[in-house]
Amino acid sequence: MKKIDIHMHVPPNDPTLEKYLRIMDKHEVEAALVHATPFEGQGNDDVLRAVKAHPDRLFGSVHADLRRPIRECNSIVRRYADEGFRSIKLFPNLGFDPNEERFEPFWAVVEKRNLLCLSHCGWLTDKGPFAGQRITSLLSTPLHFECPARRFPGIRFIFGHFGGGASYLETITLVTRLANCYADTCPGWGRWVFEQRMPGLGTLDFSKILYGTDGAGDAYSRQERWWNKTFLSMHRTREDCRRHMYDNAAALLGIGQKTRISERSDHAKT
Ligand SMILES: [Zn+2]
Repeated sequence: MKKIDIHMHVPPNDPTLEKYLRIMDKHEVEAALVHATPFEGQGNDDVLRAVKAHPDRLFGSVHADLRRPIRECNSIVRRYADEGFRSIKLFPNLGFDPNEERFEPFWAVVEKRNLLCLSHCGWLTDKGPFAGQRITSLLSTPLHFECPARRFPGIRFIFGHFGGGASYLETITLVTRLANCYADTCPGWGRWVFEQRMPGLGTLDFSKILYGTDGAGDAYSRQERWWNKTFLSMHRTREDCRRHMYDNAAALLGIGQKTRISERSDHAKT
């Protein structure tokens, strides 16, 4: 089954994803949205280098640290949007609340540039570059995006890791109520909530969930089998499985739209 990985980073020792693309080919992963992070080797310029090397397969997502002055964040977002990036990536765990009114000029830029917003949600490790920092998972739950999601309907928000384990009901609340809210099923909590068949998942609209992995590598096909088996056991259809793995992400990233439009106009001519 064709797949799009909506939640990917630059892997270690593979700066332009040459090796990773071979793995993607092997497992029918057509494209990936590559998010910058504060980690060494995964910054905005690292993502830019990878995306420029493979513009047909990789899409860029710029990391903005909203603890910095808003004007600085806005100029970073504009700079990478000019390079063709399709998304922003946030880590509210670092110590900011996306609901705060002072961020409205930032959201206005994100909306104007037609960017997606994928936020890390829920638990964040304090290892690596986050070691010793004041990490708070309480700030990174989906309801901290309620104000921007209501006020900037042109931004499609994606809650990473299904919004986190403890806060997954916030994800269900927002994705079922607001047209511009989505969630990815990236491990661990994104998989855990389905593994546990948590209450409320049966009400999910499957046009709102996206396949993301943080870099599944050779586990893509195994994951595909696990997800499809899990969804079918939850009385979902094969079409729902395809939406999760491919269709929803393709719609958000505009993949295949040109073909469909040209097919339609060809059809109109005949
Ligand atoms: Zn990630």
